[in-house]
Amino acid sequence: MFYAEKYDKVHWVGMNLAEMESVLNQMGEPKYRAKQIYQWVYKHQINKFERMRNIPNSLQERLKARSEIRSTVLNKVTSNPNSTTKKYLFTLLDGGSVEAVYMKGRRTTVCLSTQIGCAVGCRFCATGTMTYQRNLTAGEIVEQFLYLQNDNDSTITNVVFMGMGEPFLNYTNTIKAADLLNDKNGINLGARRITISTAGIVPKIRRFTDENHRYKLAISLNGTSQENRGQTMPITETYSLDSLMEAAWYYWQNSKRMITFEYVLLSGINDSKADAKQLKNLIGGLPCKVNVIPYNEIGGEYKRPTDEQLQIFLTELDHARFTVTVRQSQGTTIDAGCGQLAVKTTEENDD
Ligand code: SF4
Repeated sequence: MFYAEKYDKVHWVGMNLAEMESVLNQMGEPKYRAKQIYQWVYKHQINKFERMRNIPNSLQERLKARSEIRSTVLNKVTSNPNSTTKKYLFTLLDGGSVEAVYMKGRRTTVCLSTQIGCAVGCRFCATGTMTYQRNLTAGEIVEQFLYLQNDNDSTITNVVFMGMGEPFLNYTNTIKAADLLNDKNGINLGARRITISTAGIVPKIRRFTDENHRYKLAISLNGTSQENRGQTMPITETYSLDSLMEAAWYYWQNSKRMITFEYVLLSGINDSKADAKQLKNLIGGLPCKVNVIPYNEIGGEYKRPTDEQLQIFLTELDHARFTVTVRQSQGTTIDAGCGQLAVKTTEENDD
């Protein structure tokens, strides 16, 4: 009942200015009201109509009767006293759940989800073990950002679309959410501070290139041959490693922007000296960055490599033509590390 009532309402987060103008036009309101509401929602990031000081009380009441600013409810925040990373659980309008992660360090980065569950099914990923339910709307994606910003003093400087879901299988809403985050008249986060990470949806990499988006592009590589990558990433059967590398080159040749390859290091799977050598061959002269991520175990068959093995792998990459960084994921103690997001049942969460 509660959800059915809410479904009938318009939600302002997720709308761009033109859409707000259209809704207000239907209400018989002048165009400039849209700009005012847009700024309250995205620039001042308020969540109550009463706080819209330049909106007359009568209009505030009409807005309240037929709309809500946000559609999701913040359900739970998980933190650890020894860490500045926090995990946020949201309940959506239809009862579904998603998670987002806040990480404070030299930069303040948030990791946002784009789908409930994920159909890509990477074998090392906790989200991949969840059934895919649906795409998030642009509003549901941006709301994660707004709640995380409201709940923390430090200004969010970076956004990564690396939470639950494959962003490029929810392409339109992901790009719309990124555009809303980036808009100078609203949240105003620089385009190069927004990273979209894909498991390798080749046609969408090409579309992203053709549309000339300025957001950073990251590709989860995690393997160095068709067979090796296919072992952990079944998507490789649909979009081969060759076609993925061709798309990466296409992106570079057309945009002159560097891709980041994420390489989750899995013990005994892709972490040998030979794997590192093969990685150099695979990438060749493509200008890029490789981000090596020692695996965060989720209790399955895959293991994190030892520090010694990590070192062997990195040493082999010493003279690679690309830049190599190592990401030691924050938040692993609260299952908020890379690849660890999966909404558990209430019982499990409450343990
Ligand atoms: S790593 Fe990303 S694409 Fe792969 S299953 Fe997990 S959420 Fe989906």
